[in-house]
Amino acid sequence: MRLTERLKEEKLSVSFEVFPPKTDTSFENVLAATEKIAELKPSFLSVTYGAGGKGSRYTLEIARKLREKAEVLAHLTCVGTDRESLARYLQDLRKSRIENVMALRGDLPEEGGTPEVFPHAADLIREIRKAGDFCIGAACYPEVHPESPSQAEDIARLREKTEAGAEFLTTQMFFDNNLLYNFLYKLREAGVTVPVLPGVMPITAANQVERAVKLSGSFMPRRFVSLVDRFGGSPEAMKRAGIIYATDQIVDLFANGIRHVHVYTMNKPDVAEAILRNLEPMLGQRF
Ligand code: FAD
Repeated sequence: MRLTERLKEEKLSVSFEVFPPKTDTSFENVLAATEKIAELKPSFLSVTYGAGGKGSRYTLEIARKLREKAEVLAHLTCVGTDRESLARYLQDLRKSRIENVMALRGDLPEEGGTPEVFPHAADLIREIRKAGDFCIGAACYPEVHPESPSQAEDIARLREKTEAGAEFLTTQMFFDNNLLYNFLYKLREAGVTVPVLPGVMPITAANQVERAVKLSGSFMPRRFVSLVDRFGGSPEAMKRAGIIYATDQIVDLFANGIRHVHVYTMNKPDVAEAILRNLEPMLGQRF
């Protein structure tokens, strides 16, 4: 099913992001964890793409397996992709009945340089669009992409992605919902009208905080920092507090008219399940 069809549904829903293994040795463990997450029957599962690294080949393998249990959105990056490998990837997706692709640029290598064939996500989106039969998603940044000179410029580039063919957007993680609401106003003002899926990351261990901030540049509200200060030293307490914080974010998003939320699971089935359990009456389902 094309995700744009699913996103039209009135019912509240949650989808999950998982990532593929980086090595052969972790394949079975990652598959087992992601299959458990798929069994929770999320609205769909997105499978990330290890840009240019060894991980990229596993995206397809994991996505194919998960497609037996759930709707799948397979990621792909400009980094490491040329016209030939793109055609092969799309053909493999077709064979696996995967109709949804998330088109990203990927993080640039530390030594610098932009991807040669598709410099920006919009270029990749245009090429996938030519293939005709895929529902395409793209990334957006409520707190501005780190390389952008301004939010106005970032949103103008985002609009180019939707004009190129992106039919929905998923946001970078954020920890203060007001930032998301402000961003959504600005998108609508700029004429970006496609559905936007807010991305929520449950932080369930104190050592995840630094990495998450480094990766996303997200603002950590005082309320969240206090929670880490108070409970970061106790793994059990921190895990529960992180699940509650993420659930609270999702409840507030639902209360403010958002119908679909994407959760970054970090491949943790217990965390995904705990969040769904907290939301049972809102989702109208038992988990
Ligand atoms: P782009 O849309 O190309 O934008 C990158 C930067 O270039 C922005 O600053 C933009 O404003 C600017 N820009 C865009 N077009 C132009 C232009 N024509 N001229 C000049 N500047 C321009 N990474 C992975 O490696 N694998 C994944 O699976 C993955 N999944 C992700 C999922 C989500 C929901 C998000 C939010 C991010 C994900 N990422 C992933 C990270 C992503 O690859 C990085 O954030 C990357 O730095 C930007 O990707 P993009 O697709 O937004 O790039």
